[in-house]
Amino acid sequence: MVNKVTMAPQGPQFSELVQGYWRLVDWNMSAQERLTFLKKHIELGVTTVDHADIYGNYECDRLFGEAVALDKSVRDQIEIVTKCNIMLCGDKTPERKVNHYNSSKEHIIASAENSLKNLQVDNIDVLLLHRADVLMNADEVAEAFAQLKADGKVNHFGVSNFTPRGFELLQSRLDAPLVTNQVEINPLNFEVAHDGTLDLMQTVRTRPMAWSCLGGGSIFTGSTEQAERVRAELELLKEELGASSIDQVIYAWVRKLPSNPLPIIGSGKIERVETAVESLKLEMTNEQWYRVWIASKGHGVP
Ligand code: NAP
Repeated sequence: MVNKVTMAPQGPQFSELVQGYWRLVDWNMSAQERLTFLKKHIELGVTTVDHADIYGNYECDRLFGEAVALDKSVRDQIEIVTKCNIMLCGDKTPERKVNHYNSSKEHIIASAENSLKNLQVDNIDVLLLHRADVLMNADEVAEAFAQLKADGKVNHFGVSNFTPRGFELLQSRLDAPLVTNQVEINPLNFEVAHDGTLDLMQTVRTRPMAWSCLGGGSIFTGSTEQAERVRAELELLKEELGASSIDQVIYAWVRKLPSNPLPIIGSGKIERVETAVESLKLEMTNEQWYRVWIASKGHGVP
């Protein structure tokens, strides 16, 4: 069973597993197939969906919106997270010379309004600033958030890939708590467990969201020494825990972190979503958790 959990003080309720839509273009689904996939994961209890304006070269939110438009009743059954502030250059934005960030009031509001249009919904549950932007003026971001909230366009706000100091800076200008910091957490990269990011989440009782828990697939395919060591340890743990696959072990490993991260599932295959849901029953000991740490680092704990 997938529980609903509170993300932060006064924060929204999310399903404890989130469905990511970054790779939606690659799934090559018709609008009806997208709707069927969405309904199936809602049925499993995975009701929170993760988007960004830039996903699929600015195509994913529109493709998702086409599916929602086929059955508007799904809107009330999901929590929509989307993001802004990355400026990609490409065929859609020929005026840009390099990828960069823009956290200006004007861009935040324009991006959120564009997401509403593409997703074909009236409001966004949570809007995140996608990347830490050294040119971010926190007062200006606060103005943008206040306006989007007052206009009923966005209910809550958060960040992604922010440093602990960046999180505190933005929080210092806001009336309501930021509801998450969405960060990379997987057995090949869990820097956020060491640089204070997750400590801060625990301090402010706010749950992080964990992206690329499976290393974007490299846990299964990576050929570095680190990937091979980690895979071998995960296989041993799979047997010990009675898990059906190593991705289940990874989800349990991510969820054991005391800041209570919500894993974001990256697959468009419903059977892999089911596998993730089944992993919620797994629990590992502290020693088992550190075996993955040791396999990843290639040395014991100090
Ligand atoms: P992930 O779960 O680490 O990787 C998903 C990839 O792994 C897919 O290509 C999937 O292929 C493959 N995979 C899954 N299970 C597998 C298995 N058993 N064997 C072989 N390959 C397998 O997640 P992610 O897609 O990188 O990220 C998840 C979500 O996090 C994204 O959708 C996005 O919403 C979010 N995200 C956020 C940020 C950020 O900066 N905030 C950055 C990256 C991602 P199949 O499709 O074939 O299953």
